[in-house]
Amino acid sequence: MEKSSRRNNKNSFVRKIGNLVGVSNVTWVVVAFIIVFMAFIYEALLVPKISLDGESVIFLNYKQKYVEDGFRASFLGNDITSSVKVSGKVDSYKLGTYIIDYFVKHGLFSKKVIRKVIVEDQSAPNIKLASVGDIYVCPGKEYKEEEFQAFDNYDGDITDKVSVERTKNSIVYRVTDSFGNKKEVRRNIFYKDKEKPNLVLEGSEVAYSFVGEEYRDNGYSALDNCDGDITKKVKITGNVNKEKAGEYILTYSVSDNNDNVAKVERKVIVSERGRNGTIYLTFDDGPKEGTTNVILDILKEEGIKATFFVTNGGPDYLIKRIYDEGHTVALHTASHNYATVYSSVDAYFNDLLSVQDRVKRVTGYESKIIRFPGGSSNTISRKYQEGIMSILTTDVLKRGFRYYDWNLSSGDAERGNHSAEEIKNNVISRLSKDRVNMVLMHDIKVHTRDSLKDIIHYGKENGYTFEAITMDTEMIMQRVNN
Ligand code: ZN
Repeated sequence: MEKSSRRNNKNSFVRKIGNLVGVSNVTWVVVAFIIVFMAFIYEALLVPKISLDGESVIFLNYKQKYVEDGFRASFLGNDITSSVKVSGKVDSYKLGTYIIDYFVKHGLFSKKVIRKVIVEDQSAPNIKLASVGDIYVCPGKEYKEEEFQAFDNYDGDITDKVSVERTKNSIVYRVTDSFGNKKEVRRNIFYKDKEKPNLVLEGSEVAYSFVGEEYRDNGYSALDNCDGDITKKVKITGNVNKEKAGEYILTYSVSDNNDNVAKVERKVIVSERGRNGTIYLTFDDGPKEGTTNVILDILKEEGIKATFFVTNGGPDYLIKRIYDEGHTVALHTASHNYATVYSSVDAYFNDLLSVQDRVKRVTGYESKIIRFPGGSSNTISRKYQEGIMSILTTDVLKRGFRYYDWNLSSGDAERGNHSAEEIKNNVISRLSKDRVNMVLMHDIKVHTRDSLKDIIHYGKENGYTFEAITMDTEMIMQRVNN
């Protein structure tokens, strides 16, 4: 009753006003319609429009750079984007809500829209452990708590908030930052030794011994992470036949209490011990027409065998002659170019194998007797690769080569002009009966060719013997300097 009477009151109030200005109810409906229609026209046609690209509410991670997604404005179909004024700033280094205003004015009418940017900490903290993955503890030993740290992008160091839950077989680290982001790291604990022992050889991986002499091992040690020093458990298989020159492989192996096995090998090279008073004439850098052929003639005439460290230069037929006449064809690298052969270990072997191929192609013989350009003690290689001689001198032996330096230089390749007389004197004055004489000469030199006969005669008359290098010959090695 009350409601309808109030409506009646209201209706009568409208009617009274209507009566005052002289309009009917129907007219009121028309007026209302016109107002709505005008509002529609205003909104649809007269007010500029702004539309935002992207979301109108953006959640931004702490410290993440705010990037405007873009917007467009138009009026009656015309683009007025360039008239839009954007205000408001986002400081992503401060958590909070930021408002960006987009405002455009056109004629009498204007439009404003907003975008809300909420800067919050969305990143979970990070737990940093001293080691990652499952934990292996030596059997019978206690797990020792590792160090850990927790960092959050917003809170900073929250290590003190980390909870550690430990059972016998697992450990869980949990932490929550002030924004409620959680991090959990779970690890299993196994009571098992997973690491193999550390088996180390004393001395080089390549050892030397001599025919008729007992091989003496340089020794070894084995340390295990759980069992400690287990050197006594090391077993050696393979043996060295001291009666026969050659190569022998010794295998050292050791097993810890969890059956983790470590294995290493050592190559033992057994050579004939060089006899004192022996002369090895060695000729490098050839062959060469005009010198090598004459040197071969002299050697034949004197009934003496020598060794030629050849390159890829000179004619094939001289290589064939060296071989056919019973001398040793040895390898000095194909290019003899320091910059090439000492640029890397691979480059050296490529070059070496190239000359080995040449010799094999010409003679059918696979030579494994080598001399490094400049000798193993050279320092020029340092210019191209630091430490390369230390690697090469071991690697060539591991690959089955033998390398020979010299202990007597004829000086025939040194700078300046040399006479045959000078070369002869250099050699004979340095010969000794108390050692092996590994004589460095170059068969590409005329003065060397011309000194040879006298050197041989001196040697023969003074009780020296001449020999060519074989795989059983004791290696003459200089000190490695690079
Ligand atoms: Zn040389």
